[in-house]
Amino acid sequence: MRTPPTVLTVAGSDSGGGAGIQADLKTMQAFGVHGMSVITAVTAQNSLGVQGTWPLPEEAVRAQFRSVVDDIGVRAVKTGMLASAGLVRTVAALLAETGAPVVVDPVGVSKHGDALLAASARAAVREELLPRATVATPNLDEVAWLTGVRARTEADLPAAAEAVLACGPRWVLVKGGHLAGDEDAVDLLTDGTERHWLRSPRLANRHTHGTGCTLASAVASGLALGRTVPEAVAAAKEYVTGAIAGGFPLGGGIGPVDHGW
Ligand code: PLP
Repeated sequence: MRTPPTVLTVAGSDSGGGAGIQADLKTMQAFGVHGMSVITAVTAQNSLGVQGTWPLPEEAVRAQFRSVVDDIGVRAVKTGMLASAGLVRTVAALLAETGAPVVVDPVGVSKHGDALLAASARAAVREELLPRATVATPNLDEVAWLTGVRARTEADLPAAAEAVLACGPRWVLVKGGHLAGDEDAVDLLTDGTERHWLRSPRLANRHTHGTGCTLASAVASGLALGRTVPEAVAAAKEYVTGAIAGGFPLGGGIGPVDHGW
């Protein structure tokens, strides 16, 4: 009997099943790793947006984390929605207890514009969480509030990446998907020395709920499987491109990416 590598997501729950913990676990299943979850916040959410958010007590987050780590162990961790400054600090301290690689998705707001992180928590993400990241996966809005650098064209991505690296992650994957007017979706992965440009055709599908969660979980899964960061990111980008291509209508708004392709 083979025991698969274990991957832990520390993130928020999406009752609609498209993003957050639910997207993370589906992605991990697709990569053949054993997915586990520390839930930081419960959201009442559907294809139209987030109707309510309830962060969990710091003690509940700590207890979930210790239950998993003390008995089962983790080969890689992914963090997503952390809701508050207190939870960011709690999670950063817990991560310091494991030697496992960490993928930090610095989630700020949902596609609908709903806040998933208090503005007062941004400094803690920058100062306490990012230094613990093996890979950080910000989109351009997240780069802007993390660093003050606003990338507008592909040529701006290296400076954006350098600004994030200055916060302390080993690698950064800057997701350029929101660049205006580009033909391709272009991301830049760098550790300050190597530069890997990742291009994929821009897909017209609007059903993209859960894209960021899926990408970060795919990277964490690859790291747990023993891939290098560039290998894990390349495989994750391929996975998320397929998932976006298969994104489907659900409810009256933005449907989820597909994990069954
Ligand atoms: N809900 C939760 C719990 C999340 O963690 C995230 C993203 O990380 C979202 C919603 C946002 O998903 P999207 O912006 O892809 O719609």
